[in-house]
Amino acid sequence: MPSVPISNTSLSNLQPNTNSNTNYSTSAITNEAQRFATTRYPFPPFILKFNAGKINDKATIEDLINYSKINFSFDLDLVGYRTSSIRCNTNECNLLIFVKNSSSFSFLYSDIKWPDRLFNETFTIDKQPSIPPQLAVIITNVSYKIDFNDFENELRNNYANVLKVIRLKNKDQYDTKIVKVEFSSSKTRDEIISNGQMVINYVKYDVKEYLPQVSILICTKCFGVGHFRKQCKQTDDTCKVCSERCPDVNKHNCSGIAKCLHCGGDHYSNDMKCKVVKQYRADLTKILLSSSNKSFNNNRCNNMPTSTSEFPPLPRPTKSTINGYKMPVGEQNGIMTKLDQILNSINNINDTIGDLVKRTEHIEDWINAKQKFDLKINNGIRSLQHGISRHDGVLFNQTNVIDKLILPAMDDIMSMLSVMNVKEGRALNVDFESRGGVWKNQLQAYREKRLYF
Ligand SMILES: [Zn+2]
Ligand SMILES: [Zn+2]
Ligand SMILES: [Zn+2]
Repeated sequence: MPSVPISNTSLSNLQPNTNSNTNYSTSAITNEAQRFATTRYPFPPFILKFNAGKINDKATIEDLINYSKINFSFDLDLVGYRTSSIRCNTNECNLLIFVKNSSSFSFLYSDIKWPDRLFNETFTIDKQPSIPPQLAVIITNVSYKIDFNDFENELRNNYANVLKVIRLKNKDQYDTKIVKVEFSSSKTRDEIISNGQMVINYVKYDVKEYLPQVSILICTKCFGVGHFRKQCKQTDDTCKVCSERCPDVNKHNCSGIAKCLHCGGDHYSNDMKCKVVKQYRADLTKILLSSSNKSFNNNRCNNMPTSTSEFPPLPRPTKSTINGYKMPVGEQNGIMTKLDQILNSINNINDTIGDLVKRTEHIEDWINAKQKFDLKINNGIRSLQHGISRHDGVLFNQTNVIDKLILPAMDDIMSMLSVMNVKEGRALNVDFESRGGVWKNQLQAYREKRLYF
């Protein structure tokens, strides 16, 4: 199997083999890990559609940079551009423009008044790019009880350049207390982030940067973090379940007891819930943000090291193409892009399968538990039924004894006693005579079911 970068799942090489320093936080976060993460969060490109089959892209870009400088005194900062004929008619072509930072993004997004022509060619912009995380903020702890429309209106009244206000949903599509706000201006957004709060309807809310989770690269051989399997320096395999090392993991006799390589916890070594993995992700994010700050220009005040409006730029082009703004289009790069795409897909598939397996296991557990419970209930019902029929039998017997033996015997005894109680036409015991009469009547009534006790 190839090295699979696992975005939501795992990583592990915080260990010595990258660096003897036990504090891995900076040293173990490799270039590969950064590259892997940053290629997934570039700024989306601006796409200009030209009414020509072919354009001089270099001259067009130079024209755009000059236009921005002359008319808006703005230094447009790009990392690259390229032409593409995908989704174009025969006499059209697209020019994709990749900006370097959020100020250039917001300039092209909202500040610029586009000219009719660039380098003498007419063009249109069919669709603006989507707003990147660098121009969004997160408002935390927004109560479920508020009137969201009212909240949104108030927010738009109080703050400029708001594009979208969205209450985020969790995995199961339920509302969360988190609201994402997208801005068209990096200035507004950065001011809010440095204030750390927004006031809406007289309520102060804490505000944070919107950081989508960075993808994390993990080796499928040693389960180390930050390198591909191909680059792995370990000769043995590592079992991801028990984290034991062995020459061939396929022949490994696994105990099946999960023990994490990183923290020793009872989960697989590529589990995202691992605290070491989480820390790695946090550190990686921090490094990406700070390095993009450094590489960005100095207008930003240096005593604000956490200002992160500048998200990681695209990876550097290959050496030979650094002059101009040419996007690297070398064969190598093409292959890398393809590889990245494949890895990404594998990743997604892995995640999906993982999810499905988990869900199926839950359902199976539930069904098993239910079957056990049903069996117990059935047994209970059966034993109750047995008890009832036994009681029925006993009751039947006793009723028979009373009806067929005791009552007739009593009747006979009573009759005989009444005969014996008479001497010379007179009752010897008058009391008995009258009580005997009552008993007899009562017995008769009981047997005819007119009387119940
Ligand atoms: Zn490895
Ligand atoms: Zn094992
Ligand atoms: Zn762990």
